[in-house]
Amino acid sequence: MNLPADTKPQLHPSSEDELDELLFYTPLSLDLVSALAGDRPLSESENATLESVQKTRGEKYYSDLLYTITHRFFSPPAAREMWNNVLRHKYEMSSILKRNIRIAVASLDYLSNLTAELQSPTLTDEAFIADLVRLSVHDGLTGLFNHSCCFQKLDVELQRFIRYNTTVSLMMIDIDNFKNINDTFGHQTGDDVLGEFGRIVREEARESDICCRYGGEEFTVIMPLTDAASAAVLAERLRARIAQSVFDGKTITVSIGVAASGENVRTSQELVRRADAALYEAKNGGRNRIGIDK
Ligand code: GH3
Ligand code: MG
Ligand code: MG
Repeated sequence: MNLPADTKPQLHPSSEDELDELLFYTPLSLDLVSALAGDRPLSESENATLESVQKTRGEKYYSDLLYTITHRFFSPPAAREMWNNVLRHKYEMSSILKRNIRIAVASLDYLSNLTAELQSPTLTDEAFIADLVRLSVHDGLTGLFNHSCCFQKLDVELQRFIRYNTTVSLMMIDIDNFKNINDTFGHQTGDDVLGEFGRIVREEARESDICCRYGGEEFTVIMPLTDAASAAVLAERLRARIAQSVFDGKTITVSIGVAASGENVRTSQELVRRADAALYEAKNGGRNRIGIDK
């Protein structure tokens, strides 16, 4: 049975923003959505999680549910209708086969055999997808977020700034004369130093700070809800800690540029440009120091 064309659910264009939102922020898992569909009882805390997702996501809630099962985007109205249809199909299948047919199986049957929405579905383990996401946003050497993720996170924080006027600050960190470490001790030692350096940055930062490897021997720390003055205190603390630390028997120093969102700093590009300029000042001033955007 194929649905008539006008009642066929429309695929929502899968914009990058929506994908990011889902990959980074959804607390939904297939196991939880499966429980919601009645495959197992829901605990109180799971109920609360679902309620809160429904409240914050509004009409996108059903798109999220469907995405969690199918990894495809459906527009909110189409998703709501499809969720109801899939549930009905699940109960019908379960009743005919006289055993519980889980939501993932019912969805697969409904979307591939009844509506042909899924043309060539592949079974993929959810943990595998989680691994792919982890790999795609983290830097392999340090375990910190990578360059592209840094911009995604910055964009989110700047949107928050524009909407709610919550200041976000950025630290741009560059290891001083790092080329000397490679030239003197070899590239492998350089890598080990970078790994250890990333660990210290993470340790010095607060839980809510977002630490990234921007590239090479350059790192960033995004500090949500933090003004430039507080960010400068954190930057100075990190600079001092690095200068006192010993990395595999070697010492290093860093120069740090600090900038914050503001009336004229409303995009990630502008915030990065200013932190970079402040870093340049710190380098010019003699290294092992911090520069603050005015
Ligand atoms: P400055 O104080 O001006 O920043 O001097 P610098 O030597 O740190 O800067 P420069 O840009 O001249 O050199 C950066 C060095 O970082 C050169 C490059 O080989 C090294 N580097 C970048 N990425 C890696 C990496 O992944 N592993 C290792 N071992 N070295 C790296
Ligand atoms: Mg550099
Ligand atoms: Mg450097």
